[in-house]
Amino acid sequence: MAELSQILKQATGVVVERGEGVHLFDEDGRRFLDFTAGIGVTSTGHCHPRVVAAAQEQVAKVIHAQYTTVMHRPLLTLTERLSEVLPSGLERVFFSNSGSEAIEAALRLTRQATGRPNIIVFHGGFHGRTVAAASLTTSGTKFRAGFSPLMSGVHVSPFPDPTHFGWTQDEATDFALKQLDYTLQTMSSPQDTAAFLVEPVLGEGGYVPANERFLAGLRERADKHGILLVLDEVQTGWGRTGKFWGLDHFNAKPDVLVTAKGIASGFPLSAIAASPELMAKAWPGSQGGTYGANAVACAAALATLDVIEEEKLVQNAADRGDELRSALSAVAAKHDQITDVRGLGLMLGNEFRDADGNPDGATAAAAQQEAAKRGLLLLTCGAWGQVVRFIPALVVETANVDEAAGLWGEAV
Ligand code: PLP
Repeated sequence: MAELSQILKQATGVVVERGEGVHLFDEDGRRFLDFTAGIGVTSTGHCHPRVVAAAQEQVAKVIHAQYTTVMHRPLLTLTERLSEVLPSGLERVFFSNSGSEAIEAALRLTRQATGRPNIIVFHGGFHGRTVAAASLTTSGTKFRAGFSPLMSGVHVSPFPDPTHFGWTQDEATDFALKQLDYTLQTMSSPQDTAAFLVEPVLGEGGYVPANERFLAGLRERADKHGILLVLDEVQTGWGRTGKFWGLDHFNAKPDVLVTAKGIASGFPLSAIAASPELMAKAWPGSQGGTYGANAVACAAALATLDVIEEEKLVQNAADRGDELRSALSAVAAKHDQITDVRGLGLMLGNEFRDADGNPDGATAAAAQQEAAKRGLLLLTCGAWGQVVRFIPALVVETANVDEAAGLWGEAV
């Protein structure tokens, strides 16, 4: 029991009984406006009737049929449907269950395909919590501490983060690209570098978008040296940023795309996508897992795609995201401790700094807790926990945005 109460203390103390759209209800029937969406997962809202029906129907047909022995229809149909939304050329897909597993799949693929050992990652990146994924993660020491030695062959180069040192985006980008060249000269020579791994928007690292010039710079260096460009779209995919993929904002062209979270409205599913030629370079038997491409999860993913298309959720994310950004900016304008409102679409963060300009995780956490007391669920992120983020389901309506902004204003 002691352990359970500790877990409850770490979160909000709320025990939910059911969810509907952007709302969660606890066991006493109290309603919460959920602007966390299970960490950006339940994009179609909690228990969307289409997703529920698809999953229920599939549960009654077949729950698990392993694809190394037999195929099932949801997997085949999903593979076809994904080719309609994936960037052109990346039509070969491999499924697993979580973002971390998909990152590991991308790691195996790029190392095997190039025969090179090193991966260059970018400061503030978060790629998961398995040992390999944590080795690639630099968004906070807590994700790496206490279980070293981590995987070797990982080199870290700066992300173009204009917020941290108060730079312009151009200054941050110049710095990041120059440092990348320096990293390639001094730490990880091109002939030893299998891949660049980067998020289009730093997620756990504090909701900092990359930019077109930086990603084009990675592409150029990747092409020049035979390095593969892996985009981690685990948090930014499926409409979250107001475009289907984060890369769509930046005209970026990855060799491998990693996706999870919003893919199946809460059922465990993740995938990597690459060209058939590249995917064929994975060593036989090296990719796989008992539960990957679960039939119910694939059926839920198909329903998720239907809902996203029919309810125009990508456009809704862009439109409601604009409204939310204006409302959060209005709150920030009244409070000196919020120094930045940033992000894309419905992936928005509020940066808290103290009077000396230092990242202020304590005040951010206090604001988050005050919001929860008022019925608004939010998460923090950033290396110091200094960013309070808003990631509601993409079905969010203007009235929900207004209500959330009002509660946030009170909480701050
Ligand atoms: N990559 C990114 C960008 C993420 O945001 C996350 C999780 O938050 C992961 C990878 C790891 O995903 P999972 O927690 O499903 O293992």
